[in-house]
Amino acid sequence: MEIFSIPNTIQPGTLVLSGRERDGRESGIGAMIIALQELTSHGVSSARNRAARQFSSEERALSTMAMYEMAEPKLISRNFSKTGVIRPPKGLVVHVTDGARTLPALFNFFSLREQKLRDGSSTRSSSHFGIGKEGTIWQFVDTDHQAFAQGPGAPAWISVEHCGVIGEALTDEQIESVGNILSWLHGIYPSIPLRLAKNARDIGLAYHSIDTSWSKSGRCPGKPVIAQLPRIVEFALAGY
Ligand SMILES: [Zn+2]
Repeated sequence: MEIFSIPNTIQPGTLVLSGRERDGRESGIGAMIIALQELTSHGVSSARNRAARQFSSEERALSTMAMYEMAEPKLISRNFSKTGVIRPPKGLVVHVTDGARTLPALFNFFSLREQKLRDGSSTRSSSHFGIGKEGTIWQFVDTDHQAFAQGPGAPAWISVEHCGVIGEALTDEQIESVGNILSWLHGIYPSIPLRLAKNARDIGLAYHSIDTSWSKSGRCPGKPVIAQLPRIVEFALAGY
């Protein structure tokens, strides 16, 4: 993302959902409940990561198709689309917020009716996932829907924002968490390879500025993060 100076105090406006959006929320919550039931049936409480490995790919595809069971479900009610989605996705795109320092601040921004960029222009942005500095994952958009994180790359790619400033590296916890998301996506969509994407037409792990049509400024996520992408793949290859 390339947004700036987001006040942490902004609250989302009154949520007035269209039928389509309301359906989206229900299907998302329904998927989450199924996922939680699956977790409970496996007797999971303390070792969440170990428990997740007990799912076969088939079970995961059935139970958590659109919601990642290790993410806090924090679905936004606008600034995403249920149409124009291309599945299977081509891979996962890495972003840095460069504005929202916390996940609640990012949720608030994505929930705004009118999102403003630093230059005052309006935008509509969102990502499927957000990861805090300490590795906490929130899911804002069902992966069956389209989040608006990378322009023309949005329909076919899953997106993840990392709280931080462009120019900083990701924390070890963020690298592990995004590696887990990539591994989970690969389990559901085996056509997504656990390797770096070479360009926007490729598949795998990509980043926002990989294509100028995705990022005009070319700033996000910044060189230190791009240099860390192979470590994310390593975590994904190790499984979660
Ligand atoms: Zn970005």
